Amino acid sequence: MKKVFCIGELLIDFVAENQGNDLSKAKEFSKKAGGAPANVACAISKLGGDGVFIGCVGNDPFGTFLLRILENEKVDVSLAQKTNTFTTLAFVSIDENGERDFVFSRGADKELVYDSSHKTNFENNILHFGAATSFLGGSLEDAYSRYLFDGLTKNAFISFDPNYRVDLWKNKQDVFIRKCHAFIEKSHLCKFSLEEAQLLSGKDNLEDACKVFHEMGTKIIVVTLGSKGTFLCTLNFSKTIPSIKVSPKDTTGAGDAFIGCLLQQIAEHTSIDNILEKEEILTQMVTRANKAGAITTLNFGAIESLPTLQQLDS
Ligand code: ATP
Repeated sequence: MKKVFCIGELLIDFVAENQGNDLSKAKEFSKKAGGAPANVACAISKLGGDGVFIGCVGNDPFGTFLLRILENEKVDVSLAQKTNTFTTLAFVSIDENGERDFVFSRGADKELVYDSSHKTNFENNILHFGAATSFLGGSLEDAYSRYLFDGLTKNAFISFDPNYRVDLWKNKQDVFIRKCHAFIEKSHLCKFSLEEAQLLSGKDNLEDACKVFHEMGTKIIVVTLGSKGTFLCTLNFSKTIPSIKVSPKDTTGAGDAFIGCLLQQIAEHTSIDNILEKEEILTQMVTRANKAGAITTLNFGAIESLPTLQQLDS
């Protein structure tokens, strides 16, 4: 089985209790682990895969808490780094439809330092980049592009999720788009939300958007559509694959569960090129990943709501 190296943020989400969507009125918060790439690593390991996390936390109790959570989920954290800058903190509220509002104090995770010794580990494995804050500067941004380069030279399968956050890129969307394009051009698989697909392609229609992404160089595109499921588009076919019916409590982490489950299935195949052309196999994989996303919406929090293999198979 291939390893899946998930690179980027790991932070504390302080989630407001009982205050709907209004962070200004929140009085009590509960402490949860957050960060899309870390969630993806957990999703993979929870399903029996080899999730490896590469990111940076503070040399403080929050950093210890975060790494312990990942270890409990059987994620390999041996390549994670610690720094004297405080662990990144986010404050989050969730409305009655499960949608999030947040503010955050960026800290240790932006300080991930590139380490050339990881390169040999990447050989024929999978690298996943989830970029919510990775293009906002810090040594993390530099590490991001260098790991991408290393992955490509070592024949790794590259997966990219832009994790667009509108509040972070107000008035500088063009910079975000340019930085994402550099990754889309080099990735084998890209996962977008509908908003991201439209923003990054400049097209409203999904077929047209995927044409733009294919021309850039990526082969497989999945566009997650919440309760409607996922639009899957390869060079040979495109279709919307429905999800299962659920009553969501909190959609946090659904996209991470989805891409984690998809990558975990891809990791089980020795020859990726053979399967990725095949409509039937890809459709089965996305159907299963949809289920993983849907299950994650049934409880509050991301990591604790990710499905186990048993839940996914039931
Ligand atoms: P995130 O905000 O975590 O980045 P996202 O917008 O990328 O998430 P979603 O579209 O919310 O991802 O969810 C990912 C997948 O999970 C969907 O494609 C779908 O298969 C499943 N899913 C999410 N919400 C629901 C729902 N309400 N009902 C059924 N399935 C859902």
